Formats: sequence, structure tokens, C-alpha cells
Amino acid sequence: MIKNALQHQENWQRMWRNPKPKAHYDFIVVGGGGHGLATAYYLAKVHNQSSVAVIEKGWLGGGNTGRNTTIVRSNYLWDEAAHLYEHAMKLWEGLSQDLNYNVMFSQRGVMNLGHNLQDMRDIERRVNANRLNGIDGEVLDAQQCKEIVPIMDCSGSTRYPVLGASWQPRAGVARHDAVAWGYARGADQLGVDIIQQCEVTDILIEDGAAVGVDTRQHGQIKAGRIGCVAAGNSGVLAGMAGFELPIESHPLQAFVSEPIKPILDTVVMSNAVHGYMSQSDKGDLVIGAGIDGYVGYGQRGSYPVIEHTVHAIMELFPIVSRVRMNRQWGGIVDTTPDACPILSATPVENLFFNCGWGTGGFKATPGSGHVFADLLAKGKPNKLAEAFTMFRFYDGALIDEHGAAGVAH
Ligand SMILES: Cc1cc2nc3c(=O)[nH]c(=O)nc-3n(C[C@H](O)[C@H](O)[C@H](O)COP(=O)(O)OP(=O)(O)OC[C@H]3O[C@@H](n4cnc5c(N)ncnc54)[C@H](O)[C@@H]3O)c2cc1C
Repeated sequence: MIKNALQHQENWQRMWRNPKPKAHYDFIVVGGGGHGLATAYYLAKVHNQSSVAVIEKGWLGGGNTGRNTTIVRSNYLWDEAAHLYEHAMKLWEGLSQDLNYNVMFSQRGVMNLGHNLQDMRDIERRVNANRLNGIDGEVLDAQQCKEIVPIMDCSGSTRYPVLGASWQPRAGVARHDAVAWGYARGADQLGVDIIQQCEVTDILIEDGAAVGVDTRQHGQIKAGRIGCVAAGNSGVLAGMAGFELPIESHPLQAFVSEPIKPILDTVVMSNAVHGYMSQSDKGDLVIGAGIDGYVGYGQRGSYPVIEHTVHAIMELFPIVSRVRMNRQWGGIVDTTPDACPILSATPVENLFFNCGWGTGGFKATPGSGHVFADLLAKGKPNKLAEAFTMFRFYDGALIDEHGAAGVAH
């Protein structure tokens, strides 16, 4: 089994060149997760930039990109968030063709459950807002939920009875690591240097402008512009450049069961009970939890959180009570106070940050990369990005999805 895993990893490595870094690039992207790789891909593809390097301290997709539960949806409440995530959704819909790599995007629908009157009112408000923005959405009652998910307990006799749900039919799941590999291969083919096992240890600044990075393995690498796309490590990178981001890093965990026959062909989420579940193409039940309450950088989670999620899932789906769980893991997510991302210039000239996606950035990967590449190439944000400036936390122009959509994944 270990031999197979190593062979598998070797095969990934062979998919792209493993170049030695040059002394200077026009653009350096720090972080080889999905967002960083997508940024590099669109810099090369859309903006014809060939002097681009992605610098990754571990292996590609080894951060949150390869650790998430792959929910893709765009039904956010506020216009700014809805437009950004819907931009990503449209890119998802053509991504396998664009990359010529099967990212296994499966539009099987996502259901967000409501368990009390206020949940249902929030759901109605959000679905109405989605439709006004041209995003598909429906409000389901408990009977309709049961028809779509027969294994769910909609009897009304549970601790959190299912009263209904929001339903986005175009939403779904994708294969997370394939997204990283597809973007990496595409970027590599367009001449981007992807440098793995290379940790950025400092941001080089001269006269208030970023001029390069220092790395543990390859020393200094100079750059015209630098984009930091390091998810849970963004605060550490900002610290290297001498400023703070309004970000907290929290462990977030998930687990999968042994593979079983198909029992669930959609995604069910509940913010109230805080558990959600889908079934992968291999047959594993993919179950996600909430974030740990404390700040941390461990890529694992604490036991009480996972215990709470197991309770919630067993209440919603009694059928899974005797399914064995195979693996559990965690990632470090970067949360902002308004649960919306940062796509922004910074107080340091030529230094840009793409972060703050928290528990829900996988779904944004293509859109985030597309928009951030534009910001890096032009030095100023386009219409989709401008509201996501980090300076909103100074002037108060927040996009409060946290209060609005109870955002979870
Ligand atoms: C358990 C879990 C479940 C989730 N479920 C969902 C979901 O269902 N749907 C959804 O939309 N989102 C979900 N998310 C969130 C989603 O995974 C992230 O928002 C998204 O993957 C972030 O992508 P990224 O490319 O920005 O980050 P990452 O994939 O974490 O990439 C950042 C990279 O930066 C590298 N890096 C950091 N510091 C340095 C340095 N100093 N030098 C060089 N490299 C560095 C890291 O090694 C890492 O590879 C989940 C997250 C977790 C942990």
C-alpha cells in the first residue's frame, strides 16, 4: 500500500517539470494550493505572462486544497459574494474542458437544511436574493427534502426537525486534488515554474515596495509583483511584510467512512446541527465538521468537535450509525470577521494577498485564481474583486456573509 502511494506521488511529480528557480520573475505566487496554481495558470493563459513562479513549501495541493470536503455552490446572500462565487461556478462548469483534465465536477445539487422558523425565513430571503442575481435556487419543504434524500430522517421527531431547505441544483462536488493537478499541469505547459519543497521565510522589501522573497531552500528570489495565497498561513506571511491581517487561523476537520454502496446522490448541509455529508464516487461518505474554537496551526482537529458532528450526522441519517469510519484529518483555515475573502493590495507596494476564504474557499478556486491573476497583472482590482479589499476592515464596508448566510463550506 505504501509502495502504491509512493508510486502515485511519483506519477504526480512527473506530470510537470521540476525546475530550478531563476534569480528573478515578473510574478511570484506564494502557495501551491488550488488558488495559487489557478492564479498562475490564468496569469499565463489570460494575461500572457510567462515569467511566473509558484513557490510551495510542501507539495502541490497538500494544504486545504487536498483536505476539504469539496462542496461547490454559489448561493451566497450579498451581491458581492454571490457575484464572485457565481463567477467561479461558471468557470467550474467548463473547467475539465479548459484544463483538458477531469476534475470530476459533479452538479448533484446542495441542500442547506432549515430546522426552525427563523432558519426557514433566512433560507427564503437567501433564495430570493440568489434568484435576483440570476443564481439558481429553490425553497424545499420537508416532504420534498425526503423525496430527494430518502435516507434522511424528516419525521419531525428529531432534536432538530427538518422543516425544509434551500436547494441549489447546479451546486455539487469536485475532486479536490485533481483541481490542483489540473491547474499545475496547465500552468506548467504555459511556462510557469512550479517550485515545490521551498518555503518562503521572508518578504524582501526596499523603499516600501516588495522586491522578492527569501526562501529556506533556494535563497533569495526577486520579483516584480508577489501574490501571497497561503490560506491558514497568510497571517504569518503578512507578519514577514510588517503588517497584520484581520485573520484567525483555526483547525477544521473532516472524515470519511469505508466505501459503501450508493446511498446519497446529493450534498446535505446543516448549519444548525453543524454537520454535512456527501458520498464520493468511490463510495466513501464524506463528512465535515465545524472549526475548532481556538486558534491553531495543527492539521488535525479536536475530539469534541468531531464527536458533535458524529451525533448530528447520526440523527439526520440513522442508517449510517453502524458504518465504520476510515480516516479523519484537518486543515488550517483562515477566517475573517465577515466570513468573506481578501483579494487585495496591501500597505506594501507590489505585494498582494488572496486569503480569508475560511471554511469555504474550495468552491471559489477557479474564480479566485481568475480574479487574483487580473489584480496581479494590472495592479488594481476589477469589479468582482474591489469589494474584497483588506481596507474594508478599516472603513467598515464589510460584506457580512457570516451573519447573512451562516456560511459553512
Ligand atoms: C476539512 C476542511 C473542509 C473544507 N470543506 C470545504 C468545502 O466543502 N467547500 C469549500 O468551498 N471549501 C472547503 N474548505 C475550505 C477550502 O479547503 C479552502 O478555502 C481552500 O482549499 C483554500 O485553498 P488555497 O489554495 O487558498 O489554500 P491551500 O490549499 O491551503 O494552499 C496554500 C498553500 O500555501 C502553502 N504555504 C503556506 N505558507 C507558505 C510559505 N511560507 N512558503 C511557501 N508555501 C507556503 C501551503 O503549504 C499550502 O499548500 C474546507 C477546508 C477544510 C480544512
